Amino acid sequence: MSTQTSSTIQFPYKRTLGPVISRFFSELTAQRIVGIRSGDRVIVPPMEYDPETGNQLAEDFVEVGPAGTVVSWTWVAEPGKHHPLDRPFAYALIKLDGADTNLLHALDAGSEDAVSTGMRVVPRWRDEPVGRIDDIVAFVPGETPEGPAAGEAQDVQTMDYFSTITYTDVLSPTLERYAASMRAGVIKGQRCPQCNRVFLGRGYCSVDAIILGEEHEEALPDFGVVSNYTIVTPTPYPGQKETEPFARASVVLDGDEMVIAQQQIIGIPVSEIRVGMRVKAQWFPAAERDAAEITSKGWGTVAGFIEGWVHTGEPDEPAEQYMNRVF
Ligand SMILES: [Zn+2]
Repeated sequence: MSTQTSSTIQFPYKRTLGPVISRFFSELTAQRIVGIRSGDRVIVPPMEYDPETGNQLAEDFVEVGPAGTVVSWTWVAEPGKHHPLDRPFAYALIKLDGADTNLLHALDAGSEDAVSTGMRVVPRWRDEPVGRIDDIVAFVPGETPEGPAAGEAQDVQTMDYFSTITYTDVLSPTLERYAASMRAGVIKGQRCPQCNRVFLGRGYCSVDAIILGEEHEEALPDFGVVSNYTIVTPTPYPGQKETEPFARASVVLDGDEMVIAQQQIIGIPVSEIRVGMRVKAQWFPAAERDAAEITSKGWGTVAGFIEGWVHTGEPDEPAEQYMNRVF
């Protein structure tokens, strides 16, 4: 059986909206929809340039809607995770009253039978506006908008944007065996027959370029000594969950040169962590062990299996013995 893991890379950034889209989103926060005048037409959403001539438009905004008429639509029977609604809905081109172009938005009508070209629709407003197109959660049938009372318009100059890639990863046989032994609570390493170095789930010796297989695997102790550590003071950024200073330590397993880096030392204040301290693995309960962190682009990690390392209470080893042994 092969294990597939799914990974998502997400890059958050802010984009500047410019004067015209900025105004459009700012008005949405007060439950108003504006278009821009271009000759004798009103374009919604507003654009900075006339789409036909490319000429810059004067910032002559016109309030439209909020009701409008469905010009065209398509039914989405099985919404995916990127769709705006988690139940079947229609994407509709909606010509808002007073507009000369169509706005594309979601239409939440309950069933396909309830949607028709020419039907009248209005916005359902989001409870707490954020200055984005989905301040309109969806359009709904009727003439009376849904949602809370309108508040003051907010000045919206930027929007947060997330660029996301999700991909699946199939684990190699080496990593499969490694994950299986970690699920069983045993750290298994592969010992190189030439240099005697031990690797976790790597499949080869990166010094001697020798392929390592099942015959080179052996159980390693799940206890050892802290050989170095760093205390990190977290700065806030998207995805950062830590709020207090935390430590990441390297642990040399007993009897070998095997160093497991980037480990959490738990159960004591970070100020008491020291080189030479004897620690043992604190495994997650068997049912909670999770191979999601193991990917074929890296090699064995204990993340998802070992929660952290706790002080054994034994006397420290001499710190000098662990100098220059980061990895
Ligand atoms: Zn080797």
